[in-house]
Parts: sequence; structure tokens; C-alpha cells
Amino acid sequence: MNRYLLSVDVEDWFQVENLRSIYPINSWNNQELRIRRNIGLILEILGSRNTKGTFFILGWIAKKMPGLVKEIQAAGHEIASHGTNHESLKILNKRAFEEDIAESKTLLEDLTGNEVIGYRAPNFSITDWAIDALIEKGFRYDSSFFDFAKHDRYGSLKQYKAENAVSRLTENFHEIRISYLQFMNSRLPWGGGGYFRLYPYQLFKLGIRKIIKSESIYCFYIHPWEFDQSQPKVNGISRFNRFRHYNNLDKTKDRFRNLISSFDFEPLKSAL
Ligand SMILES: [Zn+2]
Repeated sequence: MNRYLLSVDVEDWFQVENLRSIYPINSWNNQELRIRRNIGLILEILGSRNTKGTFFILGWIAKKMPGLVKEIQAAGHEIASHGTNHESLKILNKRAFEEDIAESKTLLEDLTGNEVIGYRAPNFSITDWAIDALIEKGFRYDSSFFDFAKHDRYGSLKQYKAENAVSRLTENFHEIRISYLQFMNSRLPWGGGGYFRLYPYQLFKLGIRKIIKSESIYCFYIHPWEFDQSQPKVNGISRFNRFRHYNNLDKTKDRFRNLISSFDFEPLKSAL
């Protein structure tokens, strides 16, 4: 059976790695929150097709806007954790990471009354010891492994083998990989986000069909700020990061609408 998995990483425009040098965590309280409107748009698009997905919500956002979490839950989507403060696992130690995931899990469970079983690492910076910590804290799956070594920010799994689109790492714990497209000898990142905005839409869709043919599972992700072409434009970041963050923001909404009507997406937990 083919499965199309849909995920939304719930963080606001100033919380992304590309802008981290301009907006350190201690400045977040002073920034304009634009996420409510952008999540509203995503919920409306998904609702129009009765599509459900998984929302990996940042603890910082859940604390600030508990009503938003409840709104996402009320619309029938899976609530999962994106950690608390969006700090890359490349800079956190295991102890700090444990605190970060425990805080976000408790927060989301208190708000929703449901167990939170899924996790996605900031910048896909997953690593073996983080999987150990997730298992210890009672998570049942991670979806952070972007097996695409060329990206400086992504993490990797070595002891844990996540060779399939969905891999059982232990008895009760799975890894749901972010999709890539095998093209000749290269792996092209094909999971969504900036790549969804970068590649021509029809080509992106063809790629999904190719992935489904070989793996039967496709895992897509997007961020609310990618729907927001009116977000504040920031100077003082590299041209490359500028491109990564702002490229084709005006196209996301129509492409996403089209994507949702082309494939029957489901929450990630349905692949376990
Ligand atoms: Zn994120």
C-alpha cells in the first residue's frame, strides 16, 4: 500500500537557522508573531480536502500560543514535538537535549490530553544518542533523518540503521525518513521545504511518483513561514541563506493546494 505522509514543522519566521545570527533565542519575545495566520491558511487548505497531517510543534510556540495547538488538534491532526527551543543537536549535549524534549512533550500532552509519540529535530540534526534519549522519554518515532550527507546542518544515523523509508530501530521505535529521490548516482533531497519551492512543481510531482514506485512511502514537510511572502525581509545574512529562506515564497500556497489535491496524504503515525 502506498502512503503519502504529510508534516508541518510549526515554528515562526524568526526561529529558523538561516536567520539565527540575527534573531538569537533571547530576542524572540520581541518579534512579530505571524504564525497564527500562516497556520490558519494551512488548516484551511487541508480542511478543504479533509486531509490530516502531523504537526511537529515547537515548545516555545506552544507556550506562547496554547490556543493554536488546540486549534490544530481540533482540526484532527496529529500533534508531535519539534523540541522546545529549536537548538540544533550539533550544539546540545544529551542532557540538555533530554530536557528540551521532555519539556515539549509534557507541554503538548498537557495541552492536548493525548500522548505525543513523534519527534522531529531542528534542521534534521538527528544523531544516534538522540534516538536513545527519545526512546528513554517514551517517544515511538523520529522523523528527522535526511540521508543526504552534502548538507552541512543535517545529522546522520550510524549505529541505528534507517535504510528504508520507515525503519524499525527497536521493538517500539521507528525512524520515518525524509524522502529523497535517487537519480543516477545522486540522491536529491525531495522531502519538501526549500526544495519544494525550488524545483518546478510538475517536476516535483513526478519525483514523488518515482519515489512511491520504489519505496511505497513518501514523506513531505513544510513550514508555516514558507506561506508568508509578506514576512519581514532581513538583511545581514549570506546570499545563500537569503535565497534558501525567501526563494519562491509566493508560490507555496498554490503548489501546496495542488499537492494536497494530487495525493492522499496522511499523518506520519499511520505508517508505523
Ligand atoms: Zn524547524
